[in-house]
Amino acid sequence: MTPPGSALGLSRRARAMPLSATIKVSQAAAALRASGVPVLDFSVGEPDQDTPTHVVAAGARALAEGRTRYAPPAGIPELRAAVAARYREDVGLDFAAEEVAISCGGKQALFNVCQMLLDPGDEVIVPTPHWPTFPEAVRLAGGRPVFVTCRERDGFELRVASIRRALGPRTRALIVNSPNNPTGAVVDADQWLALGRLAQKRGFTLIYDDTYAKLSYGRTSTEVFAALRRTIPGRFVVLGTASKTYCMTGWRIGWTLGPRALAEACAALASHSTQSPATFAQYGALAALTGPQHGVAERAAEYRRRRDLIYGAVVAIRGVSCVEPAGAFYVFPNVKRFLSSRVPTSLALASRLLADQQIASVPGEGFGAPGYLRISFARPLAELEVGADRIRRFLEGL
Ligand code: PLP
Repeated sequence: MTPPGSALGLSRRARAMPLSATIKVSQAAAALRASGVPVLDFSVGEPDQDTPTHVVAAGARALAEGRTRYAPPAGIPELRAAVAARYREDVGLDFAAEEVAISCGGKQALFNVCQMLLDPGDEVIVPTPHWPTFPEAVRLAGGRPVFVTCRERDGFELRVASIRRALGPRTRALIVNSPNNPTGAVVDADQWLALGRLAQKRGFTLIYDDTYAKLSYGRTSTEVFAALRRTIPGRFVVLGTASKTYCMTGWRIGWTLGPRALAEACAALASHSTQSPATFAQYGALAALTGPQHGVAERAAEYRRRRDLIYGAVVAIRGVSCVEPAGAFYVFPNVKRFLSSRVPTSLALASRLLADQQIASVPGEGFGAPGYLRISFARPLAELEVGADRIRRFLEGL
């Protein structure tokens, strides 16, 4: 049989591009739910709370005031300045507004940065377990992801020595996501500084994805970022997003902070692709960044309660091991003990969990870490309680 799409002649790039593993699972869960099955969806990587009302009001006001025209490809100047000001106030990072490029979410920030930094064959180090989009964005730009494993027995923490071993003549960048999706591991201040020194010495760019920075449950040593920027001013790039911090996943607002030449290159790329995120959405993000911030801490406190519940429930299951997440909103239990000839992979286990217990989770395969499941705790406590009980029953019955 001729494979679908072959008459159309899809590009090699298209043929090599899988749909995001996380999106695949949530689509399967949504289809089940639409057919009337009461699925508990722990696959989703988005806050369950609504966008704060003052942000919605700002977006609506922008529309009512006729802010419905093209915005500049680097974003509206007020928002670029607000992003710079927020990082200055929160972590002492001193970027000028001209060093900020606004994008359609953190995903496009990553995509644009990879397109603008990489030449064919350039290598980018991606610590594993990793968010599925990192290697795809590197490959789409013609680069080659080089995976470095962070081990469960090290708390999934990134070891600078293993990064050093992975460096080669084509290494162009290292992507660090802290707190990490899916493990919740956080890079500590000493490791950040060592990474900065390594980047300076070996001449690669340090790309910091700070999507979950406002969801940290332990000590945060934010002053380290100002020090890093001083060490590698031309090689330090921050990718951020309004999605998780401000419950704005559908607004599609993200940003890149980095050397001015990179911000300009990202804007040039946007000028030939998306132009910019929707203009009114940028005004919403402006309200989020410049308005009251207490909601951010309140939501983090709520996530912490949820983390405590689900982490406690998961490690209480005999045969499961799990690193306590220090940030983000996922637990990443090891389920290798439950694999067998009947359920040979975590992918098969996640499918069975969905079919038997109506629980959607994401198998570790999507994060380059087979044998694990990612369970999102961006869900209400009551739902997590019911879900944890069903997961326990399911695993004990295997
Ligand atoms: N980076 C990480 C690690 C993520 O988990 C996500 C979303 O799941 C993003 C970036 C991008 O999010 P968005 O495109 O909604 O800003």
